[in-house]
Amino acid sequence: MKSMYSCKHATTLMSKKLETRLSFREWVWLYTHLALCANCRRCYRQFKLLDKANKSRRAFMQNIAASQASHITPKS
Ligand SMILES: [Zn+2]
Repeated sequence: MKSMYSCKHATTLMSKKLETRLSFREWVWLYTHLALCANCRRCYRQFKLLDKANKSRRAFMQNIAASQASHITPKS
């Protein structure tokens, strides 16, 4: 089924978008699909929430690493 394939492709592009940048063509394809498909819009919102959570977790870990490093390295 064509529409099933499209949604699968949309999901692939969504997860790719979190890891790297999409090409202009992929970006246009994804946003056109999101404009037409309510299912994928919902899915995309979840993806973005997940991405946000991942990023804040990474920032949190970096903060901890930084504070530990400043603990270990003596200040001159
Ligand atoms: Zn879709």
